[in-house]
Amino acid sequence: LVIDGQAVSTPAMLDSINPSHLREVVGRVASATPDHAVRAIAAAKEAFPAWRDTDPGARADLLVRAANIMRSRRFELAGWQVYECAKNWREADADVAEAIDFLEYYALHMRRLAQPRGNNLPGEDNASFYEPRGVAVIIAPWNFPLAILCGMTAAALVTGNTAIMKPAEQSAVIAAKLMEIWTQAGIPPGVVHYLPGVGEEVGPTLAEHPDVALVAFTGSRGVGMVLNRQTAMLAPGQTHIKKLIAELGGKNAIIIDDDADLDEAVHGVVASAFGYQGQKCSASSRAIVLAPLHDVFLDRVVETTRSLKIGPAEDPSCKFGPVVDVEARDRILGYIDKGKAQARLVYAGDPGFVVSEGAYVGPHIFADVAPDAVIAQEEIFGPVLAVIKVSGLDEALRIANGTDYALTGGLFSRSPENIRRVKREFRVGNLYINRKITGALVGRQPFGGFKLSGIGSKAGGDD
Ligand code: NAD
Repeated sequence: LVIDGQAVSTPAMLDSINPSHLREVVGRVASATPDHAVRAIAAAKEAFPAWRDTDPGARADLLVRAANIMRSRRFELAGWQVYECAKNWREADADVAEAIDFLEYYALHMRRLAQPRGNNLPGEDNASFYEPRGVAVIIAPWNFPLAILCGMTAAALVTGNTAIMKPAEQSAVIAAKLMEIWTQAGIPPGVVHYLPGVGEEVGPTLAEHPDVALVAFTGSRGVGMVLNRQTAMLAPGQTHIKKLIAELGGKNAIIIDDDADLDEAVHGVVASAFGYQGQKCSASSRAIVLAPLHDVFLDRVVETTRSLKIGPAEDPSCKFGPVVDVEARDRILGYIDKGKAQARLVYAGDPGFVVSEGAYVGPHIFADVAPDAVIAQEEIFGPVLAVIKVSGLDEALRIANGTDYALTGGLFSRSPENIRRVKREFRVGNLYINRKITGALVGRQPFGGFKLSGIGSKAGGDD
């Protein structure tokens, strides 16, 4: 742990395991208790007034310094992701690049936000400006291990809040590297704290403490709803309303129109469904295909998926690695069993010899999936694609919009009229036309959804 600039050891430690080779321990990190959380909150509260009153330009400069350090450590940081989270090299590099983008984009944005604004009539001198809130708790997932933790923390810090980073158990080593980078960039002690630990153990203290002003969470719907309840309660001694930023899951669909360019559509769906083994909140887990193209599309998606070589993330010839841990693998296998009972399994990738070595689940494709089947409604967060046949665009849109989520969506079509209509009627946070639906870029495609996918704010955007 790093609390108030000091390294703190704990009797209990968490092993971080390489998902590609379960016998390999990538690192060991401390595991915070509720007492540590209370200490970190007190130190962050103490450091807040000075950080709040620091020149916003100096805070922005700190982010730019951190970005430069990351750039100089780009391959090392990507390497940690390959071994700790089983990102392949290309995806790992993209995550580091995204973290750098967040730092530079939020630095740039802060310089604009810091400009005084006022709407004056003669004789008046009005000023409108933003105030930092106080202590921000940042709770991050493992699937974009550096970018998401870095982006949420950078946004809190640059706007003048102090921050407590609670990374996911599966990516706590990469988070430790981020803590190193903040320190190297010259952040004053007490402004940011590193508090790895088990979510269920430290989460309630962090979310319910009266001195916490803001919780920024990216993760599952279940935990998001717990935090929503906890942050809404007024703790004794609390004198403010807590703000919760929650970015949750998705059940994202791509619609394939009957005039779609099949080469593009097949590539886009396979990349969106199986990139990083389907473990992206933006991943496509449903392909909704108009009947005339359905059979040929399905055949080609299956053949393309068959060509993905499964193996350890560090092997650059493997496009498809393991999922993050054994718990995730077992959960995904449970969904595959449910799929077999409700739909037609048309492809099951066989991980072969590597199966006992790591947390491997091959890509799975189901056809004839009913829109209300479990695998068409619940977020699986793994390599499982449900293909749904429809008779026309009306039905496609009804099914695409017919889940609890509204995060990403896509359309492959050559019809200007259908593209116009889908832009209006497919109601998701990020909609992509004639391309894959993952890989939003900071600033260019501000990212985030609504319904039960999130509160509607955008990461890497104005919010
Ligand atoms: P998760 O909800 O299991 O864990 C996320 C974080 O919450 C971890 O740091 C974990 O330790 C912590 N946590 C767990 N229980 C807690 C509790 N009771 N109180 C406080 N914190 C607690 O999610 P995950 O498995 O790390 O990530 C996968 C999920 O994240 C998926 O649902 C995915 O869709 C979502 N996600 C969303 C976005 C987005 O931008 N919308 C981006 C990435 C991931």
